[in-house]
Amino acid sequence: MLNDGNFREIIGKAQESGCEVLFDEPMKKHTTFKIGGNCKALIKLRSEESAAMLFSFANQNKIPHIVVGNGSNLLVSDSGFDGIVFILCGELCGMSLCGKNQILSGAGVMLSKLAVFAQKNSLSGLEFAHGIPGTVGGAVYMNAGAYGGEISKVLKSVTFADKNGNIKTLSAEELDFSYRRSIFCDSDCLIINALFELSAGDSGEIQKTMDELMRKRREKQPLEYPSAGSTFKRPQGVFAAQLIDECGLKGLAVGGAQVSEKHAGFVINKNNATCEDVKKLIDIIKSTVKEKAGYELECEIKIIG
Ligand SMILES: Cc1cc2nc3c(=O)[nH]c(=O)nc-3n(C[C@H](O)[C@H](O)[C@H](O)COP(=O)(O)OP(=O)(O)OC[C@H]3O[C@@H](n4cnc5c(N)ncnc54)[C@H](O)[C@@H]3O)c2cc1C
Repeated sequence: MLNDGNFREIIGKAQESGCEVLFDEPMKKHTTFKIGGNCKALIKLRSEESAAMLFSFANQNKIPHIVVGNGSNLLVSDSGFDGIVFILCGELCGMSLCGKNQILSGAGVMLSKLAVFAQKNSLSGLEFAHGIPGTVGGAVYMNAGAYGGEISKVLKSVTFADKNGNIKTLSAEELDFSYRRSIFCDSDCLIINALFELSAGDSGEIQKTMDELMRKRREKQPLEYPSAGSTFKRPQGVFAAQLIDECGLKGLAVGGAQVSEKHAGFVINKNNATCEDVKKLIDIIKSTVKEKAGYELECEIKIIG
């Protein structure tokens, strides 16, 4: 529950430190699903100091909060989120070359921008990430991956604020990465930046690979509709999309939500879907796949509120 006094205090601190605050902000504007009611307030963190200070204040005062990157892996409740949403702006969205073949990137940088920055500097390793519509923070949190690449494989270290506002840096080896998981999934931390270790490459070749992977995405994925990407994690040894397709669920709709006809692994917002529509559809998919194929699908999308 959000306490009024604490709420006023964190808003005052945010404004004093120069962070923009939006009240009753519709979360559908901050998720690629284009779904979600209002949050109580959205704070745009602009520096490492303001981020650590406000994040620890929220934690110490038990103010409900969530860090949102590009909202490309989130499904937010129709009734919204009665708390603070932190998003990253300003210096948390900067990038620079750093050491031999390394890039230091703020957690708020979009992966597409980071991959282009690497390509322009003839650095290879992030081609796989070019088409993932998330930020560096969200990608580290989720250990995002595609086409054989994974964030954990190109990371050297990550700097974050813990819930007490201490700034810490851990090496990639210490972050306990596995399929779509990192240490951050089990602890409340705010990722501030990430140091990537890449290899020297040919910028033309890097561009070609990025173009080819983007072409594959456009061909296979329903990018013309809002979604949160793959709805389910890949079960051991099979593809979720294949199971869903084989169970005859392609095209199944609940309200405005639909199992994509182009890629059964995606639930799309076909026509003003609500969070409830998506949740009901997810439940039907899970129970049908369990019953007909014997697999327990696990949601990859994070449900908020
Ligand atoms: C069309 C489409 C295609 C996709 N393709 C892929 C794909 O190929 N591979 C893949 O892995 N994913 C894919 N995704 C899913 C999604 O893009 C990734 O999971 C991405 O890494 C999420 O990043 P985000 O910034 O949007 O995070 P969000 O969705 O905003 O947040 C995801 C989680 O990360 C946390 N988080 C975000 N930023 C921070 C931070 N700075 N500090 C602490 N916690 C943070 C959030 O609290 C939340 O728990 C796809 C999604 C879409 C819509």
